[in-house]
Amino acid sequence: MNATLFTDVSIFDGTGSDPFAGEVLVEGNRIAKIATGEQRIDRSEGVAVVDGEGGCLMPGLVEPHGHISFTDVAALKDLGEIPPEEHVLKTMHNAKRLLDSGFTSVYSAASAKPRLDIVIRNEIDAGRIPGPRMRAASPEITSTGGLGDERLAHLYRQGLEMIADGPDEMRKTVRYLIREGVDSIKINLSGDAFVRPGFEEQCAYSDAEVAAAAEEAHDRGCWLAGHARADGAVRLALKHNFRVIYHCDYATPETIDLLEEAKDRIFLAPAIGIIYATVYEAGDWRVTPEVVERMGLIPMLEHCQKVHRELHKRGLRILPGGDYGFAWNPNGNNARDLEHFVTMLGYTGNEVLSAATQLGGQIMGMGDELGLIKEGYLADLLLIDGDPTQDVTLLQTRDNLLMIMQDGQYHKPPRPGKS
Ligand SMILES: [Zn+2]
Repeated sequence: MNATLFTDVSIFDGTGSDPFAGEVLVEGNRIAKIATGEQRIDRSEGVAVVDGEGGCLMPGLVEPHGHISFTDVAALKDLGEIPPEEHVLKTMHNAKRLLDSGFTSVYSAASAKPRLDIVIRNEIDAGRIPGPRMRAASPEITSTGGLGDERLAHLYRQGLEMIADGPDEMRKTVRYLIREGVDSIKINLSGDAFVRPGFEEQCAYSDAEVAAAAEEAHDRGCWLAGHARADGAVRLALKHNFRVIYHCDYATPETIDLLEEAKDRIFLAPAIGIIYATVYEAGDWRVTPEVVERMGLIPMLEHCQKVHRELHKRGLRILPGGDYGFAWNPNGNNARDLEHFVTMLGYTGNEVLSAATQLGGQIMGMGDELGLIKEGYLADLLLIDGDPTQDVTLLQTRDNLLMIMQDGQYHKPPRPGKS
């Protein structure tokens, strides 16, 4: 069995505790032993020793709102124009890009075509292409006129959407996607200010439609994730037992109470990066301050911060990351959300790193074996040059990732001289 011993490392174990000096032994694809302080692990024969030179060893990052088939486009409709063959290759490229950036797992929040996530997940699982562990999502299911419905009345055009109106279409769409092999069904329960002002506070579906989707998904053991900015959309997601609720910006105080009651069964991810980048960094794509003002993005950013600061105080499982895959918020920059959590949501470095690792393992449905440096856990590990708990921005620079290990295998080996 392959064995690697990391010595002279500062261990951030993912629980949120401060890093501690120690050693970690990996055997096969699992963490076999952890020594703390002055303790030493036996240097038995055949064990490769890696001198961490004081770097920080931490669990691999988890992206909870991945869009690896979103090819850094400026508009949703652009995704529909990519032919399937090219789209598979671009998605494969993005999968590697995330792994290169330290993301050893991705929980997808929508695929741009029905089978893209599925086929890439399967190839990664088979070990044929590099990429994060993946939970594959459906495309965004939306209603006529809802977020993602980019069709034109006079001309055929297919974007990233799957339109489903009424309970029967909803059932059929969900059944079809589960047949093809998705792990998670994504439903756009509300609109979005990015499309038109005020749309973010409108619900896209009736109770009966969401109930039909939920019944089909739950009967078949499939997870549900909702795009829910409007208060009513958050309520629908809660009522119908969605596992992941994205955004939640306009949740009212009463809905925040309901979210708190459900805190052991739901995961949240505000995807604050896309709002921030659109407000402040999209000028090159003609998103001027006037456009930002007209779309109402600054109030949305303020709501997002206010609501998630409160939800954080109440101990909800909120994960950083999200909605990378657009021109001004590209895939590969995903670690930036950690900084946003610190500067905009008041998280400490330890808290946000724990959310990106321990909670990440949980959102993947692998909380008992992924997301922590703990004996018996899967060896998805990063060696960082510096202490990311003191400065989470370190994770935004690939050169600071001295080593990336996934499932006990190097994706990026430590440079020679380190071992
Ligand atoms: Zn998204």
